[in-house]
Amino acid sequence: MIDFHTHSTFSDGTDTPERLVELGEAAGLRALALTDHDTVDGLERFLDCQPRVSVRLVPGIELSCRFLGRELHMLGLFVDPVDARFRERLEQLRRRREARNTQMARRLAESGRPVDLDSVRALAPGGLITRTHFAQALVDHGHARTPREAFHRFLAEGAQGHVPMEPLSPREAATWIREAGGVAAIAHPGRFADGRFVWDEALADLKAQGVQALEAYYADHAPNQERHFLALAQRTGLAVCGGSDYHGVAKPGLVLGRGWGSLRVPDACLDGLAALRNAPPARMKAIEVQA
Ligand code: AMP
Ligand code: MN
Ligand code: MN
Ligand code: MN
Repeated sequence: MIDFHTHSTFSDGTDTPERLVELGEAAGLRALALTDHDTVDGLERFLDCQPRVSVRLVPGIELSCRFLGRELHMLGLFVDPVDARFRERLEQLRRRREARNTQMARRLAESGRPVDLDSVRALAPGGLITRTHFAQALVDHGHARTPREAFHRFLAEGAQGHVPMEPLSPREAATWIREAGGVAAIAHPGRFADGRFVWDEALADLKAQGVQALEAYYADHAPNQERHFLALAQRTGLAVCGGSDYHGVAKPGLVLGRGWGSLRVPDACLDGLAALRNAPPARMKAIEVQA
C-alpha cells in the first residue's frame, strides 16, 4: 500500500512532516509522498526521516493550474527539493498567492465578513496561506459554523469571497515539475469541475502538454470512478498513481494511506512512476541507496 498525496503544516495540513512519516511507517506503507501545495519547504525535514524508517519517502508537490477555465491540480512526484530553478519558480507563485490573499481578505470584508489577514496568517505556521486557512478564520470570526460551510458559501469557485490566483497553465506546471526531475500527474480527476466532466479528449490534450500520470486512486473516488480512471489512463497511455489527500484534522475522518477506509493504492504504482522520472539528481540517488 502506498500514499502519494499528503499535506503537512508547510501548507494546509495539520501534522508536521515528521508526524506524517511516523503515521506512514505505523500504517506499514511501502511508500509515502509529501505533496504540499506550491511549496517544497517541508521536504527537507521529511526526507531527513528516511534513515529511521522503512517506508520509502518520496518528495512531491501539488500545483494549482487553470484548465478550460476551471481549477486543476497537478502533482509532481520525485521532484528535487533543492533544484534552484524550481525554487525560484515557486517563489514567484508565493508572491502571486500573497497578492491573492490580500484581495480575498478585501473581498470578504466588502461582503460583510471581515477576517483580518494576521489571524489567517497565524493559522498557517509554514507561512503558506490557502483557502483552508481562510475557511478556519471565517469560522473563528463567527461567519460560518464549519470550514465546510465557509467553503460552500464564501470560498468555493464562483462564491463571493473567492479570488482565483493568477493561473499557471498545465503545460507550465508539467514543465516545472519535469525540469525539477519529477513526474507530472493530474490530481483527483474525479473532483475536476465538480465531478461533471468527460475526460477522454482532455486527457490526450494534457498528455501532449507534458502530463505523465493520472491519480486514478483517490480517497473521494467511488469504486466505479476508480475503475473508469484506471481504464482511461491505460487507453491514454498514462501511468497511474494514488493517494489519500491527507490533511490531518483539517479533513476529519480521513486516514493516511486508507482515505475514508477503502482506499488501497497498489505498490506497483511506485515502480511505474519511478520509471518515468527524469535523471535523478545526485541527492536523490543518495537517498535511494539508503532506502
Ligand atoms: P487554495 O490553494 O488557496 O486555493 O486552497 C485550496 C485548498 O482548499 C485545497 O487544497 C483544499 O484543501 C481546500 N478546498 C478546496 N475546495 C474545498 C471545498 N469545497 N471544501 C473544503 N476544502 C476545499
Ligand atoms: Mn489542501
Ligand atoms: Mn488538490
Ligand atoms: Mn491535495
